[in-house]
Amino acid sequence: MIVVRNGLAKLNGYADYADYADKEVYHRDYDAEKLEGFKDIVKLYGQEITEYGWYFYTFPTTDIEPQQLIDDVGLVMDDVSQLTSELYKKMLKMNECNVGDNEGRFVGSFENGSDLGKTGIIFLTLNDLTWDYKNLAHEFGHYVSSNCVVNNNALIQGANYDIAEAQSSGLEMLFILKAQDILEENYLSTYLGTIMDKLYALRDGSILDDFERYVYANEGMSMDEINEKYREIALDYGCEDSLILKYTWLINIHHPFTDPMYYMSYAIAYYTALQILKLANEDYQEGVENWIKLINSDMFNKGYMEIMEDVGLDCFDDEDALVDTMIYAFDIMYDSYYNNMQ
Ligand SMILES: [Zn+2]
Repeated sequence: MIVVRNGLAKLNGYADYADYADKEVYHRDYDAEKLEGFKDIVKLYGQEITEYGWYFYTFPTTDIEPQQLIDDVGLVMDDVSQLTSELYKKMLKMNECNVGDNEGRFVGSFENGSDLGKTGIIFLTLNDLTWDYKNLAHEFGHYVSSNCVVNNNALIQGANYDIAEAQSSGLEMLFILKAQDILEENYLSTYLGTIMDKLYALRDGSILDDFERYVYANEGMSMDEINEKYREIALDYGCEDSLILKYTWLINIHHPFTDPMYYMSYAIAYYTALQILKLANEDYQEGVENWIKLINSDMFNKGYMEIMEDVGLDCFDDEDALVDTMIYAFDIMYDSYYNNMQ
């Protein structure tokens, strides 16, 4: 697989598949070097993410029925903005949301947008955790994007995940800030879990990106060498040795197999989501406006850097802003933890 992909990259004039994927699959307007400052900062906080993460990453169990979940999330979407309220109603009217319990169903969730028709369909299988709420809000974020497509460019292969995942996870943030009434006593854990989910992605996306770039640049490694390299990188990011499973690269992790070089986009997109959380927490309307700008961005023709500039959000290479945002997220978790103890 590595040899084949590198071969394809070389035919197209790239040093290896990682460089090829940056440009040709994900349309990134930055290169690996540009990511280094971001990863260094994530590394600094890696230990903290690992040590405290598990505590905040606990989504309570629920036995909510699919229809109730759809109705509850819809109530919050009415509060988020006019755009989300109207599109949620349209989605229900057009029968474009398929939520079911986990018996006999394909596991997982996704939104499948149509390139031309300005529509989409959500498929979601319940996990019976309050995770399902934020998950539906996330997929609905993709649905909103599919319905607001600007300047679709049918010629490009792949997608601009740095922006697409920021749209969906940005809506998770706007959603969770208004979800107190539907989540009731499960609210705080779900709120903290949703934030922690983003911090984990900053760390894990960076680990996988370093790892994949290394493997493509060093063709011919044995499976043991590949596993050992992964362990080394994960330790460098503060992961606990006992938790790093013997890494069976092509089997356990789905995306490196089907969508190599994809994970870094989650790290970058979730950083954008944390910025939206910070903005919305200070001034909800401002958070909403920034998110709508992101929804209406020309994501099929412009890269991440250019769009962040247009929208007025911070790029990942602004290191001070990144540190501020990460500390902000940690503070929310520690504050609510200590307030809860009193
Ligand atoms: Zn997504």
